[in-house]
Amino acid sequence: MSEQRARIDRAIDALSGAGVDALMVTNLVNVRYLTGYTGTNGIVVLSKDRAVFITDFRYADGVEHLRALLDVVILERDIAGMTVEALHEHAPGCVSVGFEGALPYALADRLRGMTPPGVELVLADGMIEELRLVKSDAEIAASRHAADILEVVYTDIANGTLVGRTEADVAWQIERTIREAGFPALSFESIVASGSNGARPHADPGPKVIERGELVTVDIGARGESGYCSDCTRTFAAGGAPASEAAADYQLVLDAQLAGLGSVRPGAIGGACDATAREVIADAGCGDLFGHGLGHGTGLDIHEAPTLRKGSEDILAPGMIVTVEPGIYRPGQWGIRIEDQVVVTESGHEILTGFTKTLVETAG
Ligand code: ZN
Ligand code: ZN
Repeated sequence: MSEQRARIDRAIDALSGAGVDALMVTNLVNVRYLTGYTGTNGIVVLSKDRAVFITDFRYADGVEHLRALLDVVILERDIAGMTVEALHEHAPGCVSVGFEGALPYALADRLRGMTPPGVELVLADGMIEELRLVKSDAEIAASRHAADILEVVYTDIANGTLVGRTEADVAWQIERTIREAGFPALSFESIVASGSNGARPHADPGPKVIERGELVTVDIGARGESGYCSDCTRTFAAGGAPASEAAADYQLVLDAQLAGLGSVRPGAIGGACDATAREVIADAGCGDLFGHGLGHGTGLDIHEAPTLRKGSEDILAPGMIVTVEPGIYRPGQWGIRIEDQVVVTESGHEILTGFTKTLVETAG
């Protein structure tokens, strides 16, 4: 059986537990998870007796192969409306049909008004996301492949020149390397943040010229052919040693990162992993400078469950993929973040992002 058919079957098995007879999957990432479809207009309707993929004419030719997986219906216009109108046909005998929380409120409202007599649309959120939590061997392999290219990028940066270049130029070099290696996309827009820009965790790379001795935070990811994302951050010292206070902050972030990593194992709770890393930074009196969560899951989305942050009750299990990325951000001075992407294994975790975490002073 194909991996995707197995996913569809698992989703169908989950229907009764969610209290619905059928589920209308409209979140395109979930549609991709179930079918591999990567277009912009597709819906999957799952019920005990039927799995249907619905799209429009533009994609008809490209989805022929899906007929081996599930029923395929091609509509001409508003596929959400037409799907709901024909629920008796697509989900025969179903009374309670779940829809996903990502459906825009106005659309959900409109669809409710179009529901055939005897059928009720009810919110059934997170069902497919739940299935996506634990990755298969193929999903882990795809994530590992996307992570491997990041080591090439970081090696180029370490051996090359940062001083005198703009952040935007470095970001373009990163994107070119990833795309020339055959990756169709980045997981997200690269972050190259130097000097005081590094104090903003999600700074956009811009025209600022990188100066000698500045810290440069480089947060990057590649998205592979099958859609799986990688995510890694390293902070470099441009062309020479940074200020000693910055080097001390780097060591503190590294200590926190290693402590956080050490807590990632089956049964660990997301909030507790966050606390383990956060405590290291707080004990040094820098707790206020680490203002975001410790990490997040990755997969077809760059940010997905589980989350490692304050209050998270997510429980880690083998096959989950998460990031561990503490940071220290000193407004007006510098920022440091160190991020690894790891797979939870039976006995602990395996790091996918292998580039050194010793502070690297770039060649120039
Ligand atoms: Zn990242
Ligand atoms: Zn991340």
